[in-house]
Amino acid sequence: MFSKLLVLALLIAVAWYGMKAYRRIQEDRARAIKRGEGPAPAKPKTPAVMSEDMVKCTACGVYVAPDAQACGKPGCPQRG
Ligand SMILES: [Zn+2]
Repeated sequence: MFSKLLVLALLIAVAWYGMKAYRRIQEDRARAIKRGEGPAPAKPKTPAVMSEDMVKCTACGVYVAPDAQACGKPGCPQRG
C-alpha cells in the first residue's frame, strides 16, 4: 500500500517537474522571439504566383503553375 502511494507520488512529481520544464522552455522561446533572437517567422520564398494562382494538373491532381503545360511529375500521363 505504501509503495503504491510512493509510486503515485513519484509520478505526480515527475509530471509536475516535466510541466514546469516545458513551460520554462515555452517562455524562453517566447522571450527570444520578442527579442528577435528566436526562429524567424516563416517567410514565403516562392513567388506569390506559386501560392495563389496554382492550377490542378488534370491528369494527376498535382498543383502546378498555370503557364505550365504539365506538372512534370514522373509518371504523370499529361507530361510532355
Ligand atoms: Zn500531372
